[in-house]
Amino acid sequence: MIKFSSSFECGNGKNFRKIGKNRYRCEVSGDKKVYCYYFCFDVENKGNSADIDIEVWHDPIVNDPEGFISHFPTTIWISTQDMKRFYPLEQSMSAVCDDHIIIHLKLKPQSKIRITNNWPATYSDTSNFIRNLAEQRNAEIFSLGKSAGKRDIIGIRTGTQGKPRILCLAGQHPIEFPGIWAVRTIADFITSKLPEAENMRKNFLFEIIPVVNPDGNVAGRNCFTDEGVDLYQAFGENPDAEYPQSVEGKLLWKWAVDTETALWINFHCYLGWRTNSEYPYDGWYRVPYEIFLDPRKKDVYQLLCDAVRLLTDAPSTSIEPDTHWLNSFEHQLAKRYSIPHVFYEINGGSAGPFQSGKRGLQVFIQAVKTLQHCINRD
Ligand SMILES: [Zn+2]
Repeated sequence: MIKFSSSFECGNGKNFRKIGKNRYRCEVSGDKKVYCYYFCFDVENKGNSADIDIEVWHDPIVNDPEGFISHFPTTIWISTQDMKRFYPLEQSMSAVCDDHIIIHLKLKPQSKIRITNNWPATYSDTSNFIRNLAEQRNAEIFSLGKSAGKRDIIGIRTGTQGKPRILCLAGQHPIEFPGIWAVRTIADFITSKLPEAENMRKNFLFEIIPVVNPDGNVAGRNCFTDEGVDLYQAFGENPDAEYPQSVEGKLLWKWAVDTETALWINFHCYLGWRTNSEYPYDGWYRVPYEIFLDPRKKDVYQLLCDAVRLLTDAPSTSIEPDTHWLNSFEHQLAKRYSIPHVFYEINGGSAGPFQSGKRGLQVFIQAVKTLQHCINRD
């Protein structure tokens, strides 16, 4: 007998059923158009060894088969033991159709596997990770407050009080785990004894939050918070509102503007192929330079964009980056406060935790170096 389950932290998958001999079907749980592709579920084989096919379908409630399939082909990850350490499924074992994918599995007797298209960085494991870092490295844990679901939005703080403050975050779109893996690596690096990190800590104050939407993370949601809000498009229908509408959005906004912010670094991810990138590499977004009212900050921003374009794994001059939505933090922070940002999308199709960390760290180091250069120059 084969049993399916997605009832665990970061799980996603519903309506599991048998549709033929050794053939099963399930659907993903989506949030809205395009944000309806993530799955992560367990397959337990209580019998003898079995060869099975699983059809993973788009969410009929969101009803965006094209948006679903735009995230494929991508790496399908399998864990056979601890449900934490994954390896990529051989590509020929999965097929991409118009509105569903098919995964072929060889199950050992009395075995359980976890299968996903995005290697999860769970809220609980990530919280433990940064708490341990803080203990070992003389850094400080802080909380922005509680999410709508009453979970702490926690971060790690290091560097020098009174120096320019750099904010680094991920997980607005909760299951864009490569962003979270990147920010975990950045937290590891910036609290380390490496000479480059020590130097950066002398010159800046760093506040780093790897999971800004903990409720969405725990629930395995593609896009939303518990209240059904897209934290990237934080200002929703009204980009000029004084505050974002959600609990988490307000906390993030106050974090950025109540104390002066020198730089906002935000990580997301995408899967499959996109027109703003080139597989297997990454993507990025920016705002028009003209919206910065402070000409000095505009210069800093232009140089940061040059750094992302030329010194990271995002596209070079051959492809233009995407433009931020008006209701995003990035647009509103630039327009109202002339706060520059780096917004980077790791290609999760070609990055597990290790690659996400390396690429994210490269982005972070180049951004901090560029900002340091601007400060020294002025
Ligand atoms: Zn995103």
